[in-house]
Amino acid sequence: MLPDFRLRQRDYLLNISQAMNSQLDLPSLLKLILESSVELLAGQAGLIVLRHDSGKLSPAAAFGLSRETVPLFEPLWRDIPRDAPNAIPDISMRLALASRSTGVPLRQVVALPLSIEARNRGYIFVFRARGAASFTENDNQVLRTFADNAAIAVENAYLYRQVSAERERLNAIIEHSGDGVMIINPFRIIRIWNTTLTNLTGITAKEAIGRPCYDVLNLKTKQGAGLCHTQCPILHPPANGPLYIEGYYERRDGVKIVFADNYAPQRDEDDEVDQYIGTLRDVTRLYEAEDLKETLLAVISHELKTPVSIIKGYAGTLAREDAAWEPAVLRDGLLIIEEEADKLNKLITDFLEASRLQTGSLKLHLTNVDLPDLAAHAINALKATTANHHFAPDFPPDFPPVPGDYERLNELLTNLLSNAIKYSPNGGLIRVGGKALQKTVRLYVADEGVGIPATEHDRIFERFHRVDNGLTRQAPGTGLGLFLVKAVAEAHGGSVWVESVPGHGSTFWLELPQ
Ligand code: ADP
Repeated sequence: MLPDFRLRQRDYLLNISQAMNSQLDLPSLLKLILESSVELLAGQAGLIVLRHDSGKLSPAAAFGLSRETVPLFEPLWRDIPRDAPNAIPDISMRLALASRSTGVPLRQVVALPLSIEARNRGYIFVFRARGAASFTENDNQVLRTFADNAAIAVENAYLYRQVSAERERLNAIIEHSGDGVMIINPFRIIRIWNTTLTNLTGITAKEAIGRPCYDVLNLKTKQGAGLCHTQCPILHPPANGPLYIEGYYERRDGVKIVFADNYAPQRDEDDEVDQYIGTLRDVTRLYEAEDLKETLLAVISHELKTPVSIIKGYAGTLAREDAAWEPAVLRDGLLIIEEEADKLNKLITDFLEASRLQTGSLKLHLTNVDLPDLAAHAINALKATTANHHFAPDFPPDFPPVPGDYERLNELLTNLLSNAIKYSPNGGLIRVGGKALQKTVRLYVADEGVGIPATEHDRIFERFHRVDNGLTRQAPGTGLGLFLVKAVAEAHGGSVWVESVPGHGSTFWLELPQ
C-alpha cells in the first residue's frame, strides 16, 4: 500500500488525533503515536525518542524492533541540536551509520520532529525496508500536521504527569505533616483528613470525609460546653488576626486532647473562598503543664493553709498575756502545733520530691531490707493515729530480704497505710502481708474502705489525681502520695497496682525484685 494513499485518509488522521488528545498516560500515548505513524507511512518499524530536561534524547517507545537493538540506532539522534526544533540534519548519513551498527539493512527512514513552537520534545523515526515513492508537498503537509498534533498530545501527557507528580508531592506533605491537616469547603464539609488526624482522633479519613467538621471534631471547653457551633472562627472571623480556635476533644476511648486549630482560607479567581486549610496541633501537653501549675497552686493554698492557720491559732491563743494556761492545756496545744508542723513538713517534702522527680529519677541507698520488720515499724507509727482501725500483719516466716532503700520503702508503706486509714472512714481491718515469688516479692495493703472505681485504677497514680467522690473532698490530701509510691516502686525496678471494687475495700500491691 502506498503511503500517499494513506495520507489522504483525512478521517483516519482525524481519528488518530482525537485518540491522541484524549490519552494522558505517556507510555500508552507514545505507543499509539508510533503505531499510527508506522501505519501512516507504510513502514515496518519505528522508534520515538524524547528529550529530557537536560536536553539529551533517548528512546521512549519502539515498534517492530527488539529491545536490544533499540540502543544501536543511537547514531540517528546523536547530536541533533535542541535549538533547531525541526531540523533533521543529514538523515541519510545517520541511516548509514545506524545500518552499520545494527546490521539491519535500512533503506529508508522518515523522521518527524515532535516540536511545539520553538521547543523540540523529540522525534518519531519510521523505518521502511524498501524505498517507497517520495512524498508530495501535500503529503508532507499532512505528516507535519500529524506530528504537530502528536507533539501537543505528548506535551499534554507531560504536563499531566507533572501535575500528578506535584499533586502526589502535596498529598505526601499533607499526609506526613506532624500536625493534623483537614481541608474543608466553605460549608465546613470535610474534604481532606490526613493520617496524623486519624492517629490523634482515632477517626479514619473514610469516616470523616463528607461530614461537617463540627460533627466530626466538636471542640468543647474544659467544662464541656460546645465551641464549634458558637465560636467557629470561620463563621465569626476575628476583625484582625488568624482564624483560630482551641478546645478539648474527647476521643472514643475517653482520652481528652486539646487542639489548637488554625484555618487558612484559599480563594478562587473570583476572590471567593473555596476552601479552608486547617492545621490542627495537639497542645494537650501545654495545657497539662498549665493545669498542673493551677492544681499545684490550688493544692498548696488549700493544704498548706489549714495546718498554718491551726498552728497560728494555737500559738496565738497560748501566747495570750491575759491567760494563764494549765500545764496540761498548754501541753495539748503544743502537741497539736507539733503535729500540724509535722504535716506541713510532710507536705513540703512531698512537693519537693514530686518536683524533683520531674527533673530526674530518685536516688536510692540500697541495703537488704526486711519487709516484715519494716511493715511492723510503719504500722506501729500509725497505730496511734486511729482508734477504729485494726492491723493484721501477714508474712510467711521465710520471707526473703530485698535490696531496697529503707527510708523510701518506709515512706511508700506509710503512704499506703495512711491511705488505707483515710479512705476507710468507718474503720475496719487493714491487712499488710507479703509472699515470695521466684524472682520477686509481693507486698499488699488491704483495707475495707470505700474502694476505687475501675476507671480510676491507673489514674490514681498520676500526680495530683484524686478520685472525685464525697470522701475525697472531705479527706485532706494532695494527690501526690500514690504518685510518689509509684515512683519509689519503679526506682526499685518494681511496680504497683490496685485491685478494688467500690464499697468493698481496696488492695494495693507492690512487687519488688529480690
Ligand atoms: P491523696 O490521698 O493525698 O488524695 P494519693 O495519691 O495518696 O493522694 O491518692 C490518690 C487518690 O486515690 C485519693 O485521693 C483517693 O481518692 C484514692 N485512694 C488512694 N488510696 C485509696 C484507698 N486505700 N481506698 C480508696 N481510695 C484510695
